[in-house]
Amino acid sequence: MFSKVMIANRGEIAVRVIKTCARLGIKTVVVYSDADAGSLAVEMADEAVRIGPPPAAESYLDIDKIIAAVKATGAEAVHPGFGFLSENPKFAERLKAEGVAFVGPNTAAIEAMGDKIASKKVAADAGVSVVPGHIGEIADAGEAVKIASEIGFPVMIKASAGGGGKGMRVAWDAKEAKEGFQSARNEAKSAFGDERIFIEKFIEQPRHIEIQVLGDKHGSVVHLGERECSIQRRNQKVIEEAPSPFLDSKTRKAMGEQAVALAAAVDYDSAGTVEFIVDKEKRFYFLEMNTRLQVEHPVSEMITGLDLVEQMLRVAAGEKLKLAQKDVKFDGWAVETRIYAEDPYRGFLPSIGRLSRFRPPAEGDNGFGVVRVDTGVVEGDQISLFYDPMIAKLATHGDDRAAAIDSMLAALDLFDIAGIQDNTPFLSAVCGQKRFRDGALTTGYIAEEFPDGFSGVAPGALDRRMMIAAAAFAHVTAVRRAARATGAVAVSHDLEREDWVALFNGERAAITVAIDELGATIDFPKRRGARLETQWRPGERVFSGELDGVPFSLILDPANEGYDVRRRGARERIIVCRPRAAELRASLPEKVAADTGKFVTSPMPGLVVSVAVAEGQDIKAGEALLVVEAMKMENVIRAERDGVVKAVAAAPGASVAADELLIEFE
Ligand code: ADP
Ligand code: ADP
Ligand code: MG
Repeated sequence: MFSKVMIANRGEIAVRVIKTCARLGIKTVVVYSDADAGSLAVEMADEAVRIGPPPAAESYLDIDKIIAAVKATGAEAVHPGFGFLSENPKFAERLKAEGVAFVGPNTAAIEAMGDKIASKKVAADAGVSVVPGHIGEIADAGEAVKIASEIGFPVMIKASAGGGGKGMRVAWDAKEAKEGFQSARNEAKSAFGDERIFIEKFIEQPRHIEIQVLGDKHGSVVHLGERECSIQRRNQKVIEEAPSPFLDSKTRKAMGEQAVALAAAVDYDSAGTVEFIVDKEKRFYFLEMNTRLQVEHPVSEMITGLDLVEQMLRVAAGEKLKLAQKDVKFDGWAVETRIYAEDPYRGFLPSIGRLSRFRPPAEGDNGFGVVRVDTGVVEGDQISLFYDPMIAKLATHGDDRAAAIDSMLAALDLFDIAGIQDNTPFLSAVCGQKRFRDGALTTGYIAEEFPDGFSGVAPGALDRRMMIAAAAFAHVTAVRRAARATGAVAVSHDLEREDWVALFNGERAAITVAIDELGATIDFPKRRGARLETQWRPGERVFSGELDGVPFSLILDPANEGYDVRRRGARERIIVCRPRAAELRASLPEKVAADTGKFVTSPMPGLVVSVAVAEGQDIKAGEALLVVEAMKMENVIRAERDGVVKAVAAAPGASVAADELLIEFE
């Protein structure tokens, strides 16, 4: 085994690899850009080497700098993580030439699988079922239309060099095929510097189900079962799980065997993933193979009990796999959610800034199942626009799917993030939906369930009572403390019942609250004598307790007036006041809605990709105005109100700063 390993990556995956190395007694070196100088990975690694300024092209993608760092530190092997150089055959070859082990498969396997057209040919030859289509390069839009009609609409137009959901278009007719060919080709050219396009059948109501494989340098390959990753937004995974709620043992076995056959065909000698698209009849088709560790590998680890990074290190060092297919056992169910620095309420725009608060839930058993947190950030970190917006992964394992989901919901309730926007309310909303719990997933799930974007969920009656109880307890506690401090009431645990009014979402509820040492007894309009038990103390943002014996947690954020309370995807401003104050408020004129302004500004620094509107154009709220690229994502900026465009201040190709003027309305 190696004694020193370098990690050529950043963020949570760098930390993930360091943890396993530390457990195995392997020394670690991490490389970092200036943006990551104070990062958790740098702090945890035994050694850290600066490799350049923040842009990835000048740091994490610069092969020469990384090779220099390997030599300077004497690392014997490099783990590439995912993204960056993980699937770059030139990088693997350079390491080989330097006598350094690449913790990944052989170069020929990377090359064979790195190209979608080439890999589909290898797969078809290995007896793997591939998506029906034209396995070859399409010359022009005319040929695209002809081939699309032969395959039969709908079709998927794809970049052969594609990845990360880019360079991909669905076409339902000839016109869309023509347009889709052009736009996929443009996107592929700019994203991958490779404009080769092919076309395959678009599988309807598809599920994305992938098989984890593991091979060694001695001819053994096993699979570690499947992961279902159908919950995607714009072809990028958001929630993953293992096993899949859809597969039966026969289909699972057939998919596993085909994945192993494909891996064996390229002498696969590391951890890798064979991705399939599965239709509603459980027919499955090969999509692509990712020749690296996958973001969502924790769910496979949780159901198999294996450490995939350890397995990768062992096989890279030349060890034989110690397990045969029959030794691979599955236990329980695991779910993973990806925590992104993005604003779900504003079209999932990336959110950058300082993480003034970052407190993940505790790892270990949370009463429903076991929680695992993979993250590369700590409180106080700056989230920059240079890299992927994923800041953490939250995974839970339960005896069955329901337990894993319950554990996830409970863990999300405790995830305390402030300073930037994050997608935890959205993740809670999805995990709480009946359709999700029923396992009725397809890759269109998010688009179908949230056609107009995400605007939060309306809390159910019990959740609403929990939210009010927390706000009332916090408010009444604060009022009593203040009164005691000024000597207005005697210091005693008076169990006095007081009348209050809770105002929320335009509604009002008359409640009574009697605080005691263990919590409070609260009369709600429809639930008299509800019992709240809590250890909460003023100043804590996570409010945990039990309401009528049901444990709950929520985020309680003091606002200018009242509290912003977040739970299970619901977000409400709750104001608790005296009945008299509530009456006075009611007699005050309604506040006029704030003018959303005549100016549309860029929510983050980025690059203007395209502008969809022109001067004088009539715009309806919600209409797309322009696309700004940041954090490797294209973000659609939409109109927040109706209006007529007076001036367009941004042109495609322009770099814009945060808050820079993009469009002015009349
Ligand atoms: P797929 O390529 O099929 O979407 P994954 O879902 O496993 O596979 O995603 C891998 C992606 O993770 C990379 O393509 C990249 O966009 C992203 N990524 C790369 N490096 C990092 C990183 N350090 N932290 C978080 N995400 C990263
Ligand atoms: P990438 O390299 O970007 O990960 P993939 O080929 O793995 O590209 O496709 C990404 C996603 O796009 C899949 O998970 C699936 O949701 C969707 N997709 C790809 N090909 C098809 C297809 N032929 N039919 C339906 N959906 C598809
Ligand atoms: Mg993929």
